[in-house]
Amino acid sequence: MKLIMLGPPGAGKGTQAQLLAKELSIPHISTGDIFRAAIKEETPMGLRAKEFMDKGFLVPDDIVLSIIIHRLKKDDCKGGYLLDGFPRTLVQAKEFDDELSELNSKIDCVVDIEVEDAVIVARMSGRRVCPNCGASYHLINLPPKKDGICDECGNKLVQRADDNEQTVLRRLNVYHEQTSPLKKYYQAKGKLIEVDGNRDVNVISSEILDKIGRRDLK
Ligand code: AMP
Repeated sequence: MKLIMLGPPGAGKGTQAQLLAKELSIPHISTGDIFRAAIKEETPMGLRAKEFMDKGFLVPDDIVLSIIIHRLKKDDCKGGYLLDGFPRTLVQAKEFDDELSELNSKIDCVVDIEVEDAVIVARMSGRRVCPNCGASYHLINLPPKKDGICDECGNKLVQRADDNEQTVLRRLNVYHEQTSPLKKYYQAKGKLIEVDGNRDVNVISSEILDKIGRRDLK
């Protein structure tokens, strides 16, 4: 199955993507994670992407398209994949569709997780992540056992550079302007599944699985 996860930053796309990819045994491909790994390794692409990411802007389409096309050519994507954070603009979506049709392939479903802006700002400014193993916490909703320390690997937790309030507000603006038009685009193709992201993680994932399962995946 080939899935896309849509939704504003902080809506819980990453968490749901991880759960679903595991459940469906398909690779979870997050463009944000690919960029963060490239930044850690200080590759030229990573350093270019960082300039945009830290300010809350989107990385230019040509960079994103080339990394995603390269990633999807790997063997583990042959049986399907779950895209988390791609596409984020209409240009990306259209170019991706062209690329897929050349390969005689297509996306099965687009899952859109919606949460209001005020909830997102509260969620994201409290988020802390482990730069070593990628585990994610929240100061109020999901605190680590020991203040500031990762439960999984003992590393010091950090706040992502793009999770401060001003940058979160900019990312939300960018989402409303550039990414949310994708909902209409995929709805017109009959691919969109909408889910309310203001609920328990497990309730959301079972609803998604249920809605995906009930679709006629031709
Ligand atoms: P995420 O982890 O998905 O929230 O992504 C973090 C940041 O990476 C975003 O705010 C963008 O700056 C950049 N990014 C990730 N995916 C894309 C994409 N498809 N197009 C442009 N920029 C992206």
